Amino acid sequence: MTRDYRKGMQFLADARERLDMVAKKLKLDSGLVDKLKFPKRALIVSVPVKMDNGRLKVFTGYRVQHNLDRGPGKGGIRYHPEVTLEEVTTLAMLMTWKCAVVNIPFGGAKGGIYCNPREMSLKELEGLTRRFTYEIMMMIGPEKDIPAPDVYTNPQTMSWMMDTYSMHQGFSVPGVVTGKPVDLGGSKGRLDATGRGVMFATREGLKHLGLSLKGATVAIQGFGNVGSASARLLREAGAKIIAVSDISGGLFDPEGIDIPSLIAYIKKSKDKLLKGFKGPKFVSNPKRANEKLFSLKVDVLIPAALENQITSENAHRIRARMITEAANGPITPRADKILAKKKVFVIPDILANAGGVVVSYFEWVQDTQALFWKEKEVNTKLEEIMTEAFYDVLRTSKKHRVDMRMAAYMLAVSRVAEATRLRGIYP
Ligand code: GLU
Repeated sequence: MTRDYRKGMQFLADARERLDMVAKKLKLDSGLVDKLKFPKRALIVSVPVKMDNGRLKVFTGYRVQHNLDRGPGKGGIRYHPEVTLEEVTTLAMLMTWKCAVVNIPFGGAKGGIYCNPREMSLKELEGLTRRFTYEIMMMIGPEKDIPAPDVYTNPQTMSWMMDTYSMHQGFSVPGVVTGKPVDLGGSKGRLDATGRGVMFATREGLKHLGLSLKGATVAIQGFGNVGSASARLLREAGAKIIAVSDISGGLFDPEGIDIPSLIAYIKKSKDKLLKGFKGPKFVSNPKRANEKLFSLKVDVLIPAALENQITSENAHRIRARMITEAANGPITPRADKILAKKKVFVIPDILANAGGVVVSYFEWVQDTQALFWKEKEVNTKLEEIMTEAFYDVLRTSKKHRVDMRMAAYMLAVSRVAEATRLRGIYP
């Protein structure tokens, strides 16, 4: 495997450029802006794993804490062949803004391992996770930094992390990670939380545009945890999902795809991909499928895969009325400008996909108090936070005559800057 380091470097440069633009609007001190541009700390670890063939393989892993002024670090761990230090650093910064925009008491962090999890057995993934947890143990803890699932990690990954950490402490520490199975101190509603938040944000966005979720047409790029939960919950709320894609290709049906059957099909299939599902038209070339999906005339387009998907190359072909960013960083700053000219209403990632970390916060609170909530309570509280944040951002956007992304950043960055100002600089 050879990694394309330029992607991560560009991702970081773009995030810093966005911060500069926001800082200018907020008239922030340049020294403070520098503090926000760079992570507080970053750790690179080597993770040796005994593979099934008896050989030893060494993986590179990262944990980055961007800013802890508002509380402990919070953010997922991703396993992916495109993970680099720069990508993880950028995603940690996005977590700082995300936690601030929904006003939960966490700072931003992120982790990742450069690997291809699709080619690894469960036993190898367990070895990788446990050794990685051990290697980053000095950085994590319920009061310090709390990992969670991200791309290609899940409740099982979190169970191994929780167990490894707990074994070293000598007692169970459920609050060290979130996104755990419910039987291990996880929160009800966490698995669907990001998708549910995407649904709430989309619903309010459409309302703002004078449209209804009922009968709205939706196209979704990516069908992992976030893409599939968003599809299911949007459909339950009355929307029509007319296109979905993943690494195997894309499914298209103008009458609406039967999402529950598709999810059941994927659950039963060996490779967990869309291909082979009967009914909708299937485009088997993933690149062509994405191009087609991005250029559909839909009410809502939902990128729910990776960063840098909507770029200056394809943004001009977009015909969606609205974009809900379910992935982190799917639109580049140059594409943003093109979309603004086309009057596409964009609900930015740090707001749109914050449902996951909001319920992670609920999970951490429940673990800390050893008192667990009913799913209805979780979902109601999530809805409250998501809608309140949506209207906070919308109000800011109207007041300052800026788009939703700039408004979300203004709100988030000013909250973090205020925390830093109040705490002062040590010593
Ligand atoms: N990985 C998710 C995100 O990017 C969730 C993070 C968390 O729950 O801490 O927001």
